[in-house]
Amino acid sequence: MCIKFIFRHDLLILQLNFLDLTADIQFLPGVGPKRATLLKTELSISSVEDLLSCYPYKYIDRSRFYQIKEINTDASYVQLRGKIANIQKVGVGAKQRLSVIFYDETGKIELVWFKGIRYVLEKLKSDTLYIVFGKPSVFNEIYNIVHPEIEPATAENQKLALGWQAHYNTSEKMKRNFLNSAALRKIMHTIVSGLTARLPETLPEYLINRYNLINKHDAVVNIHFPQTLDLLEKAQHRLKFEELFYIQLDILLQAKVRSRKYKGFVFSVVGNYFNTFYKKHLPFELTNAQKRVVREIRIDVGSGKQMNRLLQGDVGSGKTLVALLSMLIAIDNGFQAALMAPTEILATQHAHTLLEITQGLGINIALLTGSTKKKERELILSKLQSGEIHSIIGTHALIEDTVVFSNLGLVIIDEQHRFGVAQRAQLWKKNTTLPHVLVMTATPIPRTLAMTVYGDLDVSVIDELPPGRKPVQTYHYFDTKRAAMNGFVKQQIELGRQIYIVYPLIQESEKMDFRNLEEGFEHAKSAFPEYKISMVHGKMRTAEKDREMEKFVRGETQIMVATTVIEVGVNVPNASVMIIEGAERFGLSQLHQLRGRVGRGADQSYCILLTSHKLSHETRQRLEVITRTNDGFEISEADMRLRGPGDMNDTRQSGMPFDLKIANLAQDAQLLQYVRNIAAGLLDKDPLLETLENQLLALQIKKIAKNKANWSLIS
Ligand code: ADP
Ligand code: MG
Repeated sequence: MCIKFIFRHDLLILQLNFLDLTADIQFLPGVGPKRATLLKTELSISSVEDLLSCYPYKYIDRSRFYQIKEINTDASYVQLRGKIANIQKVGVGAKQRLSVIFYDETGKIELVWFKGIRYVLEKLKSDTLYIVFGKPSVFNEIYNIVHPEIEPATAENQKLALGWQAHYNTSEKMKRNFLNSAALRKIMHTIVSGLTARLPETLPEYLINRYNLINKHDAVVNIHFPQTLDLLEKAQHRLKFEELFYIQLDILLQAKVRSRKYKGFVFSVVGNYFNTFYKKHLPFELTNAQKRVVREIRIDVGSGKQMNRLLQGDVGSGKTLVALLSMLIAIDNGFQAALMAPTEILATQHAHTLLEITQGLGINIALLTGSTKKKERELILSKLQSGEIHSIIGTHALIEDTVVFSNLGLVIIDEQHRFGVAQRAQLWKKNTTLPHVLVMTATPIPRTLAMTVYGDLDVSVIDELPPGRKPVQTYHYFDTKRAAMNGFVKQQIELGRQIYIVYPLIQESEKMDFRNLEEGFEHAKSAFPEYKISMVHGKMRTAEKDREMEKFVRGETQIMVATTVIEVGVNVPNASVMIIEGAERFGLSQLHQLRGRVGRGADQSYCILLTSHKLSHETRQRLEVITRTNDGFEISEADMRLRGPGDMNDTRQSGMPFDLKIANLAQDAQLLQYVRNIAAGLLDKDPLLETLENQLLALQIKKIAKNKANWSLIS
């Protein structure tokens, strides 16, 4: 057993000598099969290369050893060298702790463990020199450090300890198995100190020179074991540059390939349907922003290129009308159009709205959802195939294989962040030539994110609300004040308005949430016995859901108690109060979406956020932002700042095709713009990366492509 192990180590050194970056990490000293599995499942690391590109998230200055007499409570972290004495277990049971005296020539300090006592006991020996690192505090008038890092002061460890020390993110499961940041650092050290050749360069020489970057080898070594602060910064810059550069190069290259490969349908005329609608049916004057966007779309679909456009417009800005006008252009040119919405409620509502305002125009609009009855479905499918239906509105049901079009020319996706990448892609495969694509979102995306996630989409923005809208007034109350609010609710209902009360529904505790909702319903019934109340939630059967929703839309019920199923798109202009229970459990963009359900008519509207008294710092900041501003872009920027782009739920749903390892979209916006320009300039000269000097780029891009889903049709 022992011999085998040593043999493996030899094997490893051999591999590193050849600098095989694809080598399996399980044969590295300090790894082994169990840790290798953990690294694979927790951090997706399986090769030496993966490991080297697992970058630290912070660095701590451990550039020197302190003497114990220097310790005072101002010092945040100290690193000490000394020996231990007096190992003692204090207390019993759950309150037990391990107390150890640690000393050097200048004094002594107590080290304390509450957890992992047995492990520490096994490890500590009284005649060994140790390095201790931690944050000192005072207890019973003596200095102590709780749960310090401690390791034997071997020559290697001393070398490792001194300097800017890298810290790595590890999961709870890894920590439980003692694969913590320090352990990862040791493994990194084995690799880095075992490197006998230089790491291969991943950027062309000419770019490195032109943009003053340090080489890959030095960057990787210094990102894990910084020699100086200056080198650390240069290493970070180089690696962020590389990461963002390749993402942009990939996106822009795909766009070039696509526009060469796919011609778009030409919608050359603006015909009868569009003009008649515009002159006779339009219920109100378009806002200037709507006009501008319609013009942008008209130019796009007439150009011979396949349109790939993202329409961003805050809640209530009137995207539906733009969708309809685009559909009419398609129909004028003999094509069919499809509008896909994320929920049945929303699809149904779109269908009603559009049927109503196009009445008498002579176009055929149909609705297809999961709950369309079999007979009706068959009829719709056959009319769709024959071309009799001009425009279909629906949910995911639209992407099923049985849905065949006669000549699909335009696909519109509403609230697109709700759909997965694969779902969206399926819809635009429904014609031999790719149809034009318009995706609409009311979740404004910060510019940097848009550039990354939707890098090659053209973006239109409706940055103006229809006239006469009053900004929604937003207030935060603790839920102990709920009763006081009832008076206000009554007042609003007496004025003829309608009220939403929304409860959070978060999957992990679905049962409890559901009880909250039902209790809320009972509560509303007893607080407002004189009014009629609807309730809608995700578990209801569709028909029932629709019926309840319909009653509220028609004004037969005054109060709607619901989960977030009503978050997106629902339009009841008469509703003027949005009450959000458990508001601390919602993200910023979700709160903004929910608030967008009111303020859609001419009345002053209100949004009331109820929370418990216990609020984290971050929650307070969220509440501050949402009560201060109605500007969706400002809110999304704040959201990204508070949560970090990696955590943005919507982003993840929109299928961000990569994880950023080192760059941060919130902090590195400028660098992102900078490298995007570099990538664009480079592709202008060498559109398909065919020149000799760009061969390395082409190779790297191929490697990226292998590691991601087929994104080329979609982004
Ligand atoms: P969203 O962009 O959130 O999808 P909608 O398309 O649902 O917004 O429009 C919100 C409301 O504003 C609807 O009641 C719609 O009829 C109305 N609306 C849209 N455009 C205009 C306009 N130019 N003038 C007045 N009201 C408009
Ligand atoms: Mg909408």
